[in-house]
Amino acid sequence: MKRPTENPAPSRRAPRVLAIESSCDETACAIVEGLEVRSSVIATQIEVHADFGGIVPELASRHHLSAVIPVIESALKDAGISSIAAEIDAIAVTRGPGLVGALLVGVQVGRGLAAATGLPLLGIHHMEGHLFSAFIGDSERQSRPFAPHLALLVSGGHSELVDVRGLGDYRILGATRDDAVGEAFDKVAKMVGLGYPGGPVIDRLATEGDATAITFPRAMLRDRKNLEFSFSGLKTAVMVHLEEHGQPNSRAELADLCASFQAAVVDVLVTKTRRARARIGRDRVHVVGGVSANRGLRAAIEAAGLEDSFSVAVPPLRYCGDNAAMIAAAGAARFAVLKSAPPEVSVLASIALDDPAMELPL
Ligand code: ADP
Ligand code: MG
Repeated sequence: MKRPTENPAPSRRAPRVLAIESSCDETACAIVEGLEVRSSVIATQIEVHADFGGIVPELASRHHLSAVIPVIESALKDAGISSIAAEIDAIAVTRGPGLVGALLVGVQVGRGLAAATGLPLLGIHHMEGHLFSAFIGDSERQSRPFAPHLALLVSGGHSELVDVRGLGDYRILGATRDDAVGEAFDKVAKMVGLGYPGGPVIDRLATEGDATAITFPRAMLRDRKNLEFSFSGLKTAVMVHLEEHGQPNSRAELADLCASFQAAVVDVLVTKTRRARARIGRDRVHVVGGVSANRGLRAAIEAAGLEDSFSVAVPPLRYCGDNAAMIAAAGAARFAVLKSAPPEVSVLASIALDDPAMELPL
């Protein structure tokens, strides 16, 4: 079916976008008007994967299939929208990176909605969505210009420092060579029997523990020019500690281990972020992605901002992890510029944020 490529948004308001997110283990749908969230619904699969200690791709796809339509219906109901064709300007969908079978569910439903309504379909990079998560919420957040800023993007699958120069204009200054930060939290939690996902529970226990109890390594800090990360050595160090000392046998010991591990992660993240900021000279640092919910990280980056004179922005807690509001916000920003959509949206399971396909044809 031929899809119209021109669908100018009414000029009286920001584009109203319905977005679907299904890149990993959350099925989400949201409706925004620019950066204003009208509704945001998330069906999480955490319980589905908890027994396995990680995400099982085939199970994720199957659960997206059964969840996606009810989630969209509930987002429409929450926003009080009865006709997508009449009340929405564009559909946005996460096209990657992520699990291919999971992404396909959202993209296919997005294609179907676009075909049925004649609305344009925008394919959004999941990480560009995370960049937008720091702009949704209160009016102060919404009033900030998108670029330029330095973003520390930390999630279950990614850890990178990104120079955000404009919409679609991203330069990756450094990324992880091995495990992502969230993945390190999840793996360490699994080692000490804390279940999946590990981030929130380690974060909670860390507040009770002594961060100096165990000295874990801070990898790759010696070379000041290197902005890459590595977290697999830290994971191994925790494993070696457990082999030598056995499993923690009290809540206090467990809390000390969590606090010491988290301190090592936060130290590396904040040190590299400060170096990157000093190098590129930005006055704003945003921390986004699931790990941006971490209290230790939030406090440390705030403190660094005060010391080095840069401002810090983090998303509201409910938009730190995967959600569709951030995808919709990115879609609205792109649609406001493009006023149209590309003719075809395909799944790009491993697209980088600085891929030329991300650039806006301005
Ligand atoms: P992805 O997009 O890679 O699927 P998300 O952006 O949803 O990931 O982030 C999920 C990751 O964030 C998980 O690895 C989880 O453990 C981690 N996480 C969530 N909350 C916290 C927290 N408070 N502290 C540290 N890590 C966290
Ligand atoms: Mg994510």
